[in-house]
Amino acid sequence: LTADYQRLDRDHHLHPFTDFKALGKEGSRIITHAEGVYIHDSEGNRILDGMAGLWCVNLGYGRRELVDAATHQLQALPYYNNFFKTTHPPAVKLAEALCRLAPAHLNRVFFTGSGSEANDTVLRMVRRYWALKGKPDKQWIIARENAYHGSTVAGLSLGGMAPMHEQGGPLVPGITHVRQPYWFGEGRLGEGRDPSPEAFGRLCADAIEAKILALGEENVAAFIAEPVQGAGGAIIPPESYWPAVKEVLAKYDILLVVDEVICGFGRLGEWFGSVHYDLEPDLMPIAKGLSSGYLPIGGVLVGDRVADTLIEEGGEFFHGFTYSGHPVCAAVALANLELMQSEGIVERVRDDLGPYLAERWASLADHPLVGEARSLGLIGALELVADKTTGARFAKSLGAGNLCRDLCFAQGLVMRSVGDTMIISPPLVITREQIDDLVRLARQALDETARRLAE
Ligand code: PLP
Repeated sequence: LTADYQRLDRDHHLHPFTDFKALGKEGSRIITHAEGVYIHDSEGNRILDGMAGLWCVNLGYGRRELVDAATHQLQALPYYNNFFKTTHPPAVKLAEALCRLAPAHLNRVFFTGSGSEANDTVLRMVRRYWALKGKPDKQWIIARENAYHGSTVAGLSLGGMAPMHEQGGPLVPGITHVRQPYWFGEGRLGEGRDPSPEAFGRLCADAIEAKILALGEENVAAFIAEPVQGAGGAIIPPESYWPAVKEVLAKYDILLVVDEVICGFGRLGEWFGSVHYDLEPDLMPIAKGLSSGYLPIGGVLVGDRVADTLIEEGGEFFHGFTYSGHPVCAAVALANLELMQSEGIVERVRDDLGPYLAERWASLADHPLVGEARSLGLIGALELVADKTTGARFAKSLGAGNLCRDLCFAQGLVMRSVGDTMIISPPLVITREQIDDLVRLARQALDETARRLAE
């Protein structure tokens, strides 16, 4: 069975973010079913999903209520659109629920099918807003190096991943990137006179201001960033970063776009990462945890400032997707939000699981391979190092991160590697016991990684 699937897969299936040739040689792992925080493969292995799929299965696998919501909606109205002047109950109810849960000034939502489409929508809304305000030169968008904002051309242009840019050109013009507040990777190396994380956070905010001045403040439309940068390496900014960034943006009247595709829906222990960091985004792209990944849906929450202008002064906005606010996806998303509320999932991450993970995860910092163990809510990272005292990294050619990832998988844990940064982002329904198990499996894989690297 496994070999059959692997053969068909190799012959016909091009995987996202995959070296096609290498996969053809190694063969895929076939995932057949899942429940709670565990996935199962075709060889009978049960694996703790420390990544919640792709940071999205917040409610865990196998929730009957979400299946029922989909079934009911498929029977009542499997598809209708929200174009022109029609809509349907799931889209309307979901829009209301989202605006109720979001910070007070976000009162409108534009639905999309994914996070990438949400960021395409952001780009268009930002530029349209400033054009309507009579400032068509305010076009530049400042994003961050190494950020991931999606795989559409606008998404990858907003993102700051060099390999994607190299394969994706020509990029959307008018987008530029500034450094990320990556303390372990860049800050601790002691740039500037004060090498504290807090000083580094301010340094990164200063880089935004310098970029604004270089472009001319009258030309800068928006700044886009995740509260905690996810795919870039689970980068938790120093506490000084966001307050300083807010100040800079306010000084030059620049819109703030907070990409909540990963951080939204409880990941950081609040409904949105913006709440944790006390941000007031003008635009907030969302996806993933919105439906716990059960069906594809995304959107952009729009603050009053931008929404009022688009509505009052904009006329028709020539933008939308066939599946914007798809009724079945919307019904599942609504049921997902209702379950998260009735089960107090977000509060549990904030008050219990987040602090518990922080304590348990930090215990890995004593491992010879670990230069830093950091977490916030239910997102965490380990920095693998060759020398614990100097923090020196392994040679790239050793592929320490990928080795550790593969050993984790072999031992029953999904952990992701971004270079030599190991990442977890488990379902928010994980228990304390399962967190213990996750940490135990991670340590086991670290031991084995160290052994292999020493060979
Ligand atoms: N924004 C962020 C922060 C993401 O992490 C992702 C996906 O990982 C996206 C946008 C793109 O979302 P999607 O894959 O649904 O298009």
